[in-house]
Amino acid sequence: MSSAPSNETQAPVQNFIRSAVEADQRAGKWGGRIETRFPPEPNGYLHYGHAKSICLNFGLAEELGGACHLRFDDTNPTKEEQEYVDAIIESVRWLGYDWGEHLYYASDYFPRMVEFAEYLIKAGKAYVESLSAEEMRAYRGTLTEPGRNSPYRERTIDENLDLFARMKAGEFPDGAHILRAKIDMASPNINLRDPAIYRIRHASHHRTGDQWCVYPMYTFAHPIEDAIENITHSLCTLEFEDQRPFYEWLLEQLAEGGFFERPLPQQIEFARLNLTYVVLSKRKLIELVEGGHTDGWDDPRMPTLIGARRRGFTAEGFRNFAERVGISKANSWIDMSVLEECMREHLNDTAERRVAVLDPVKLIVTNYPEGQSEDCNAPNHPLKPELGSRTMPFSRELWIEREDFMEEPVKGFRRLFPGNKVRLRYGYVVECTGCEKDAEGNITAVTCEYFPDSKSGTPGADNYKVKGNLHWVSVEHGVEAEVRLYDRLFAYPHPGQRREGDAEDLERNYLDDLNADSKRTIRACLEPSLGDTTAESRYQFERHGYFVADRFDHQVGSPVFNRTVTLKDSWKNSGS
Ligand code: ATP
Ligand code: MG
Repeated sequence: MSSAPSNETQAPVQNFIRSAVEADQRAGKWGGRIETRFPPEPNGYLHYGHAKSICLNFGLAEELGGACHLRFDDTNPTKEEQEYVDAIIESVRWLGYDWGEHLYYASDYFPRMVEFAEYLIKAGKAYVESLSAEEMRAYRGTLTEPGRNSPYRERTIDENLDLFARMKAGEFPDGAHILRAKIDMASPNINLRDPAIYRIRHASHHRTGDQWCVYPMYTFAHPIEDAIENITHSLCTLEFEDQRPFYEWLLEQLAEGGFFERPLPQQIEFARLNLTYVVLSKRKLIELVEGGHTDGWDDPRMPTLIGARRRGFTAEGFRNFAERVGISKANSWIDMSVLEECMREHLNDTAERRVAVLDPVKLIVTNYPEGQSEDCNAPNHPLKPELGSRTMPFSRELWIEREDFMEEPVKGFRRLFPGNKVRLRYGYVVECTGCEKDAEGNITAVTCEYFPDSKSGTPGADNYKVKGNLHWVSVEHGVEAEVRLYDRLFAYPHPGQRREGDAEDLERNYLDDLNADSKRTIRACLEPSLGDTTAESRYQFERHGYFVADRFDHQVGSPVFNRTVTLKDSWKNSGS
């Protein structure tokens, strides 16, 4: 794994798919044309796993001067919705990719799919099956035993055409018949034992309405979609490897029928993204939302792309992540810290620095005149003077972090304790004089005195050598904000799987592995320059991490910030 900082442009890492595609281009296969596609089914929101596929498909096309299609694989009417279509479009665009004119809907191909099904019937390569689903299963055989031919397999072409026409016309209930490819019931690959290609489904489709009551099976539809769109390389995840022979068989038949020209699209499989501390399956994501375990699909803890955006993750971070995890042919797990580090690197480069006190206690500078204030100058980025600076008002009463004061310091503590000197970053050196307490003994304020000749940026500043360097916000000028401290959604790396030390027979429910502490909402105090920041602006809050103004809840006058990621990996030694 590369650990190059993100401010260097990373040369693409070679992988077997890129090599194969480049070789095809060099050899002039498809006339040197490269056309890939990202084909989501609009039955849920895109998740981090999809980002890997999007970056691969769009990234390759971009690099090699090809095109990448965004295609909605909307062939299953019952689970698909326009809401998902819109969200998917928004997320792919957010990742920074452009499909140009290549936006397609598989449902637009329904008429051609029916035409191809009829062609297969006429060519003696498909038949109408009338066994029940259960009987079909019994005839199919097993991995070790061949299947048997159905009694309906030898129906005449005319009978098949008639039955298929009546299926289309709505004469039969769901499940009464099914159209199957006629290949080989004894094939060692179960997927070639006369797979189903069309089924009856009396259901309304989100785009075609009630026009159809037969719908193509995914395995039939997908190769056809690729071929209609002149896709060159059809990149998919490993679970489709066993489907490849059918993909090729089907397109060969249709090429023989004169419908498509060779070379036909080529399917290549790669390992899906598995990421620790989250779940990446639409079914489980739906359960998380419907069970109220998160605040909806775009909850910043959700591993969805709309959640990532609200979390403050960046498109550049995802692209770097996709490069870094690479493409392989073997399934493996990627640790969440890799994704977080990619976000951190990009944010470290680009996010301006600001000051926020998350757990405020008052610091009173007793020798600073009441009612007075003055500006301190703070750079927006320590390594990028071109990003400029802003001023922070200093005054007699400041907010500091409660943990930056200890009445009785532990060994090694370098921050505020009576008698110790620290620098208030961008401001003065102060010496702690003590603290004030309420009747219960809780500390209500810390007191100190400042050295007027110690201000940062003045010649006198160098005369003071102190070890602590604290951030602060003027009480009078600071802006109160809601801050949501997000953390990992699950407390364990492989939600729902056995852990070391678990009993042999212990089955965990992944929901039991949720991190109870994944969201904490606090009131914090921000430096005044954050008072007019806009939604989705990202900052590093010094010493705390990266934060983003919430996309929906943040408003000028009532700021809401989400923690994107801490400054360092706090999970490294968590022992889980
Ligand atoms: P899920 O498995 O979460 O239900 P899916 O694979 O059914 O999702 P699709 O809408 O079919 O969802 O996915 C669109 C594309 O994204 C497919 O090409 C699929 O291979 C790819 N994809 C889905 N999940 C991952 C993943 N974890 N890693 C890489 N690619 C993925
Ligand atoms: Mg799928």
